Amino acid sequence: MKAIYIPQLLKASEKKQEIIVDEWISSLESLTPVRGSIQLRHGGTFLEVAAIAETIVTLTCDRCLKQYNHKLSINPSELIWLDKETEAEKDYPLEREVSLEELTESLPPTGYFEPETWLYEQLCLAMPLKQLCSKNCQRPQPLSQEQQEKNLIDGRWSILESLKGKLSTDN
Ligand SMILES: [Zn+2]
Repeated sequence: MKAIYIPQLLKASEKKQEIIVDEWISSLESLTPVRGSIQLRHGGTFLEVAAIAETIVTLTCDRCLKQYNHKLSINPSELIWLDKETEAEKDYPLEREVSLEELTESLPPTGYFEPETWLYEQLCLAMPLKQLCSKNCQRPQPLSQEQQEKNLIDGRWSILESLKGKLSTDN
């Protein structure tokens, strides 16, 4: 997804632009491309961003540790302030690692809006905090201490038994 030069939006009809999304987002491990659209509107002192998007991600269940597929479906909207005070990053790399703490809340009015980064952040925010494969998922039952000891003793007994059998045949 191409970065949008913010002043360019002022020239667009109704100062709006729609970006159709049907692609893989490099930092997001998803099973399907991210599909949807992003709507941008230049509001003079702010940028109005809204999107509808969905994809399928593979998550690991917190309870049984199995992997399962989860449909991420988002419909976020946000106002990003266009603030002259926001430091324009001259060497703004198109692809960079973005942490969740770095959420964009304001941009320089003559800067760029990065739709891919923004969408990636929105998808990350929509990830379930508690990841469970199903409502009925059961935690795998570890062997109880008792069962472990019993198995150990049974093991020893069987060795003894076989020894005993060996001894009796030797006699
Ligand atoms: Zn599970």
